[in-house]
Amino acid sequence: MLELKNIKKSYKTGEFVQHALKEVSIEFRKNEFVCILGASGSGKTTLLNIIGGLDRYDSGDLIINNMSTKKFKNIDWDRYRNNCVGFIFQNYNLIPHISVIDNVEMGMTLSGVSAGIRKKNAMDALKKVGLLEHAHKKPSQLSGGQMQRVAIARALVNDPDIILADEPTGALDTKTSVQIMDLIKEIAKDKLVIMVTHNPELAREYASRIIELADGKRVSDSNPVKRSEKDDSLIKIRKTAMSFLTALKLSFNNIKTKKGRTFLTAFASSIGIIGIGLVLSLSNGFKIEVDNFEKNSLSEAPIIVSTQSMDMSEENMEKMMGNKSDKEKYPSKKEVYVQEDIMASMVHTNIITEEYLEYLKNMDKSHLSGISYQSPTALNVVKKDSEGFNLVEGTSNWVVLPTNPNENEKGIIENNYDVLAGEIDDTKPGLILQIDSSNNVYKSSMEALGLDGESVSFEDIMNAELKVVINDEYYLEYGKGFIPNMNLESLYNSENSITLKVQAIIRGKKDKEIITNGSGIGYTNALTELIIEKNKDSKIVNAQKNAEYNILSSKPFDNDLMSGNNKETMLAYLGAYADPFLIMMYPKNFDSKNEIVSYLDKYNEGKTEEESIQYTDMASMISSLTGNIMNAITLVLIAFSSISLIVSSIMISIITYISVLERTKEIGILRALGARGKDIKRVFNAETFIIGLCSGLLGIVIAYVLTIPVNIVIEKYSGLANVAKLNIIHALILVIINVILTIIGGAIPARMASKKDPVIALRTE
Ligand code: ADP
Ligand code: MG
Repeated sequence: MLELKNIKKSYKTGEFVQHALKEVSIEFRKNEFVCILGASGSGKTTLLNIIGGLDRYDSGDLIINNMSTKKFKNIDWDRYRNNCVGFIFQNYNLIPHISVIDNVEMGMTLSGVSAGIRKKNAMDALKKVGLLEHAHKKPSQLSGGQMQRVAIARALVNDPDIILADEPTGALDTKTSVQIMDLIKEIAKDKLVIMVTHNPELAREYASRIIELADGKRVSDSNPVKRSEKDDSLIKIRKTAMSFLTALKLSFNNIKTKKGRTFLTAFASSIGIIGIGLVLSLSNGFKIEVDNFEKNSLSEAPIIVSTQSMDMSEENMEKMMGNKSDKEKYPSKKEVYVQEDIMASMVHTNIITEEYLEYLKNMDKSHLSGISYQSPTALNVVKKDSEGFNLVEGTSNWVVLPTNPNENEKGIIENNYDVLAGEIDDTKPGLILQIDSSNNVYKSSMEALGLDGESVSFEDIMNAELKVVINDEYYLEYGKGFIPNMNLESLYNSENSITLKVQAIIRGKKDKEIITNGSGIGYTNALTELIIEKNKDSKIVNAQKNAEYNILSSKPFDNDLMSGNNKETMLAYLGAYADPFLIMMYPKNFDSKNEIVSYLDKYNEGKTEEESIQYTDMASMISSLTGNIMNAITLVLIAFSSISLIVSSIMISIITYISVLERTKEIGILRALGARGKDIKRVFNAETFIIGLCSGLLGIVIAYVLTIPVNIVIEKYSGLANVAKLNIIHALILVIINVILTIIGGAIPARMASKKDPVIALRTE
């Protein structure tokens, strides 16, 4: 069943070739106790390793079950070692970081025996060697003799047909040696035991056959197999395969023995995860914040149509920044290159036609919470203050209050402002005073109302009375043109003048501070309508209609739409009609904004660039700008943190490498027990997996904890609470990426480990 035929084995160290075995031929019986004697260096261990399939012969053949092993592949040798051979070593070779019973079970674990059977067999084996009560100790807690018993139990447990023992009593005292020999003798009853020893007395006492080696040759054999002996018995060979779970358990136990180092490694390599986790939680939180802001506040920001609109497309913005030019930089040519003016290409002139105004009137008003038309019509207002009668300056800065098109719903003003005094009635001409969140107003606003002082009471404001004077009284004919009437007192007291009072004092609501804080004077659309009503047929308007020059300055018109010095603008200024130069549409919410925008887009369909009316959507402009900036910042920060991720995977690689070095012996033991190279790789991959998982989880936990102080700081400086939020999906992905990176980092050392020569591995201390 087992036969060595002309086995040769030599070792090459540099130039020097050591012939450890020189044509050794031995035939073994299925059941005998063979002792191999020989001086140190005679090749005993080499012979044993070759018989056990740990080492490969150079030439000759090892016959197992009447079959040549010349064609054996690694996997065949692994199987053979695992369940045909039990090894007992001089220095026991137990795995130190797992318990006695786990050591005994290891061979079975490697061959995939179920846990229940493993435990039972291991207990049986431990009982045989008399160590039942020590099953759960660590090897280091046993004496030398006890450790050797464990090794014997381990060799027995898979019930192999061959036991190979390399000087099993070499490290033991005489008394213990005898006990061990008795034990080996007992188990040898139905097995082939091949034992190396340099103790001839022991050999003579226990062996049924003694073979002597000298200088790599067999020099004597006390009981060679005779030709007449026929032995057809076979050795049984089964499959081996270590499960990943076993590898995990093995690594986990190993890691447990060096908790401190593992923790530090995991912590160090978690720093990248912490960084990325924090960046993601911040950008995630800010995105949510911006989204909410957009939903709650920006959705009510107006869509603006004005006679001039800026095209703030990304393309134009980049042009303005001077980017996006694929032309050569710093050319040496002595010429210049002419390009389109950026401003001119960005500004679009909208000609707001009657058709367009009609189109707007037909819009579904349910999408709007307010709409205002700012017209250039002059407000000629006279005030009476402590200095007498004066014209109110700056009325062109007064804004038209948006009117609410839906009677039974709250409009943009009600939604966003508190009325502190009076009542708004946009069907009547009147003024609205807006004050800021600290009740501040500008001096000019008070002066416009004819009031002065450091503080003014609501009552005084509500009592202030101004007069809007009509064209026919304000403009006096003078030659070819008109001049303003300077007798302000009579204008103020004229019964034709429109009395103007403050209808209401409003202030932005507390929770809308960001968008409503400010101050100024506004007036109702009804005032515009009333003024136009009174002025549209006035003398000056009719005169301007018939004159091709500016009736107020007597200067000729230019044909520049921008300058304002043209007939249309003059007529609008004088109140002939209310051609608006600025229209603001306030959407009710996000959805209605989209509806309005698409309605406005529809108008431009099929129109030329000049005829089209461009609008400005403030909300989407702001959010796309902030969105882009946020994305860019996030990317940059993640890139920085990723560097530490890569550094940590290199670190894992180094640490795994060290671990491989430290565990070389264990690799040898596992290989002797039949572990495949693949299994060894698994053990180390399992280790990096555990470290990767730990560092990933640790990183996530730390990042999560760090969001607390980060949030406190952000709240302190921006007033936004709980901005940093770690998304669970992000956390999961980060942990997975970390595990993958660490496994990649550990892959090379793990591969090295799997390629280690088991014999050399076993020889290392
Ligand atoms: P023994 O066990 O009888 O003391 P070994 O089988 O260990 O002897 O060694 C036989 C010879 O082969 C010795 O001279 C030893 O130095 C040499 N040898 C064994 N293993 C190696 C190796 N891996 N590399 C080089 N020489 C080796
Ligand atoms: Mg030896």
